[in-house]
Order: sequence, then C-alpha cells, then structure tokens
Amino acid sequence: MRYPIILHPDERLRRKAKPVSVITDELVQLLDDLYETMIAHDGIGIAAPQVGKNLQVAIVEVDEEDRFELINPEIVTAKGETLDVEGCLSIPHTFGTVKRADEITVRYYDREGEEMEVEAFGYLARAMQHEIDHLNGVLFTDKLIERIPEEDLEKYMEEHDHD
Ligand SMILES: [Zn+2]
Repeated sequence: MRYPIILHPDERLRRKAKPVSVITDELVQLLDDLYETMIAHDGIGIAAPQVGKNLQVAIVEVDEEDRFELINPEIVTAKGETLDVEGCLSIPHTFGTVKRADEITVRYYDREGEEMEVEAFGYLARAMQHEIDHLNGVLFTDKLIERIPEEDLEKYMEEHDHD
C-alpha cells in the first residue's frame, strides 16, 4: 500500500517517534509500504513519521539494491564534517545545503529483530542522518546553511561533482 506523504508544516513531523518494542507482522508490512511509498516518490529515504506513523522506523536506499531498513536506529559514532545539498519528500521543491558528519556508525534492528551495525560514508551517511533526524522531529530546513533554488539544482550538482 502506498501512503500519502505528510507535508511540512504538520505537528506529526515534529514529534519524537516511539521506539519499536516488538516486531509484528504489521511492522513488517509498514516497512514494505514505506519502501513502496518512497520509490513512488523517487525518494532515497523515508521515515515513518512522514506517513503519520509515530515509530522509530526509517528506510534509506541511496544505491539501488542497497536498502537499509532501520528500526530504532542510533548513531553511535560520528566523524568529520561535510556540506552537501538535501531535499525532503515532506518539503517539496525546497533544496539546500546542510552540514553533516561524513562518517557514522549506526546501530539498529532489522526486520528479523537482529541487532545490526553499519558504517556509512558520504551520501549514505547523510541520508541516514536526515532520516534519523525525522525520528526526532527535526527537518533539514532547521539546519539549512544555504537554500538552492530548484532551477539552480542541476548546476549546483555539476559544480560539486555529483553524478
Ligand atoms: Zn526528509
């Protein structure tokens, strides 16, 4: 099932999400539905609060075939600093630069309930930090350094060596 995306401003995007205590069939379904919703909107990440579910659940897929389903994610180490451009499914047509750690370790549970740890770098690390912020009611526009007008986005990407 595809969910409608909750758009900013909305108080549901500003809550601290509740940790998941048990992985139920319903939660597994939510993971599938979140993924379907993310792909339908050409996103690289989505968090449960963006579909009105107040749970610490997020998905990140920066590269195809490399999907992270993050349940109760926690950043355990963060190193370096990098500036790059972000957008958000909940804030359409808005883009801008945000400072993030360049290298993070995230501890989380997967859909089997296994405790996992991943070291992420670059844009994957950025996307994970963006989604984990959603679980704390924080939006990228709260941390915006410079807004990039939508029509200048392509130029910015070229100048900053994006693919
Ligand atoms: Zn977002």
